[in-house]
Amino acid sequence: MTETRQYGFDTLQIHAGARPDPATGARQTPIYQTTAYVFRDAEHAAALFNLQEVGFIYSRLTNPTVAVLQERIATLEGGVGAACCSSGHAAQIMALFPLMQPGCNIVASTRLYGGTVTQFSQTIKRFGWSAKFVDFDDLDAVKAAIDDDTRAVFGEAIANPGGYIMDVRAVADVADAAGIPLIIDNTTATPYLVRPIEHGATLVVHSTTKYLTGNGTVTGGCVVDSGKFDWSASGKFPSLSEAEPAYHGLKFHETFGNLAFTFHSIAVGLRDLGMTMNPQAAHYTLMGIETLSLRMQRHVENAAKVAAWLEAHPAVDHVTYAGLPSSPYYERSKTVCPLGAGGLFTFALKGGYEACVRFVDSVEIFSHVANLGDTRSLVIHSASTTHRQLSPEQQAAAGASPDVVRVSIGIEDADDLIADLDQALAKAVPAAAAE
Ligand SMILES: *Cc1c(COP(=O)(O)O)cnc(C)c1O
Repeated sequence: MTETRQYGFDTLQIHAGARPDPATGARQTPIYQTTAYVFRDAEHAAALFNLQEVGFIYSRLTNPTVAVLQERIATLEGGVGAACCSSGHAAQIMALFPLMQPGCNIVASTRLYGGTVTQFSQTIKRFGWSAKFVDFDDLDAVKAAIDDDTRAVFGEAIANPGGYIMDVRAVADVADAAGIPLIIDNTTATPYLVRPIEHGATLVVHSTTKYLTGNGTVTGGCVVDSGKFDWSASGKFPSLSEAEPAYHGLKFHETFGNLAFTFHSIAVGLRDLGMTMNPQAAHYTLMGIETLSLRMQRHVENAAKVAAWLEAHPAVDHVTYAGLPSSPYYERSKTVCPLGAGGLFTFALKGGYEACVRFVDSVEIFSHVANLGDTRSLVIHSASTTHRQLSPEQQAAAGASPDVVRVSIGIEDADDLIADLDQALAKAVPAAAAE
């Protein structure tokens, strides 16, 4: 595409990163199902291995199908580059890896996907890293938690599962003042609803498993770099600013400028951690992204209808959808995500844990699965599944108390979704149905 015009989101979600295949003219991006690429000659091979020339060596590092997806997501997020990897959880490790050393910590929001809370509170300790969890609505607490060993601040724009909207700009300002990058998990919002880089984020991570692919077919992840952070300013990020022994003393920031993080993610992160996205997965995700805006519009429209209906239902204690005027985050949602508060929310049932279990066993169109961001509507009882490893306090902070179910509203007919919820609620809370 020529760069003379600023293309709109709907155009970019179809075209960014893709061009007709140079060998065959194929219009759709081919699945380059290959492990390795023939070098022109020995000199070419040496230049590639020295990072003096950019090209394809081996699919653990780079693959042409995956490269199109990387450029597509980076463009939609307004970043300079991106590295795709095997899952959303892999993306989180890939994002932290260039920033962290043993003894370093991150300051993370209490309102995060349960799997991320577990990854950050337990597993990263094995690397000598740690996380301090704070309420991101308390900016003084975020500020106070940042110490000399803090290397990142981490939050979700629209948090899974609680219907919490983060004031990305306010937290970005705190991170900025401390000279620390802000990493935003943008999985549940997608760049259609929120572009965290425009609100001051340094890095954006995704589980492409969810809305970006959009139909529950493949797992994947992505780390997008804004290109805006000065990795050399403080001496806190030596992997990016200092000589890299695994590349003959190459300094990534000095050599690659605003692409330093992306080059490091691929040349060191993927090379040595090996959390690679395969070209089949990239293909499915590219197919999904082509319709991202259309799907998100319907997800949001259906979620708003279903949430409003649930809020008025006698079996329902409360609904956490930020798109409802009753939500404490309703006003904030208008600045952070003016096109809608996403397709994910929770609601509490009168009747607690037992009613929730009966409810998830009674739905028919909704599927009871540990996933979100699918074209089909999904439901899960977080306290007995995704948030099971968390303490009751952590569950409550994450918006996953035992009386709460999470729904991921699909793009079916809203009336059919409401009818399904209605019959399941009647079984789950019979007393309320009789009211
Ligand atoms: C699912 C999810 C993840 C983890 O992604 P995987 O692809 O399952 O590894 C991280 N963050 C959020 C918000 C998620 O919903």
